[in-house]
Amino acid sequence: MFMVGLYIHIPYCVRKCKYCDFNSYASATVPDAYIDALTAELKTLGALHDCAFDTMFIGGGTPSLLTMCQAKRLFVGIHTYLHISGDAETTMECNPGTVNGEKLRAYAGLGINRLSLGMQSFQDALLKRIGRIHTADDFISAYDAARNAGFTNINVDLMHGLPGQTQQDYLQDIRRLLVYRPEHISAYSLILEEHTPLFDEAQSHALTLPHADAVADMQDAGAALLAASGYAQYEVSNYAQNGYCCRHNINYWQNGMYVGIGAGAHSAWRLQSGRTAQWTRWENPLNPVAYMQMAGAPLISRPISYIGFYEEAFETVMLGLRMKKGVDLAAFKLRFHQSPQALYPHAVAALAARGWLVIDQTHMHFSGAGFDMQNQALLQFMDAHAF
Ligand code: SF4
Repeated sequence: MFMVGLYIHIPYCVRKCKYCDFNSYASATVPDAYIDALTAELKTLGALHDCAFDTMFIGGGTPSLLTMCQAKRLFVGIHTYLHISGDAETTMECNPGTVNGEKLRAYAGLGINRLSLGMQSFQDALLKRIGRIHTADDFISAYDAARNAGFTNINVDLMHGLPGQTQQDYLQDIRRLLVYRPEHISAYSLILEEHTPLFDEAQSHALTLPHADAVADMQDAGAALLAASGYAQYEVSNYAQNGYCCRHNINYWQNGMYVGIGAGAHSAWRLQSGRTAQWTRWENPLNPVAYMQMAGAPLISRPISYIGFYEEAFETVMLGLRMKKGVDLAAFKLRFHQSPQALYPHAVAALAARGWLVIDQTHMHFSGAGFDMQNQALLQFMDAHAF
């Protein structure tokens, strides 16, 4: 059973965090013209009309900068031009510094049934150091307001490997978070991205980060604490209580179809091309101004990349192996008319012989050792094809 997802990008943040290279721009408000552009783009998605979307994810940037009126206009556009399943998982990312009870109640009233709160740490000094606009108290207020507004499915983002952070600090953050029992926790390590203030500080030796081995140890210790507390790791950075894995992201890791609207949003879709349906990808202009100028252009006029059979198969393996459960063998065979063992005999045999890859009755997945060596292991699959 394949899912279909909708992603909506809101590319504005009150202020850029010092580590952030996402497609977001400093602005305390979302221009109304951006909502007009999203609505215009929704209108162009005629080719996708006859499917129902199972998941919707409003990400950013800071989607919680949307006023109640803007959010309402956006949802009118979504429901006018697309068919959203009645039981769709509908997530909105929220920065704790930008929400209050009234706003969260209004979001819930629109059908948003999952919130993702970017907390990152309980330590105010660390939050300040990485340029977050909120404090730990702001997170607690936002979390309580979300529960009071009726949200029963909440993700919280946590970070490790932050400047000066110790394993004890990180575990203390997790323990404090566990008191609140969010349904889902995303735990990311800090990645220094070029052209960010933290990267520049590191280049000029003004930044002390934990050693890579210490970061790996933090991750392992965090995963163990989360597992012992009822949160199963189901993907590299994601942990959930039973029944609360993020359906939208699972569709992405299954290399499923999704359409992204908004500045810089990506789409992956099987488009009809003559008598065959071909796997395609396309991407909107990054810059919101450029995006707003093109948002009403028909889908067919976009630069669409047609993805070949082997590339699609490799993407499916690469993304699927990010999940602990791995690649669904029946779905793979249905899609590619052969098993991963038949398509990648040498890679599968070599990785299985090393004890890195396991093929069970239903899935192909990494072992614990293989999971830790993902990049190296994936090279074996990549080497099987010359793209
Ligand atoms: S709130 Fe998120 S998207 Fe915005 S600057 Fe910070 S990390 Fe980037």
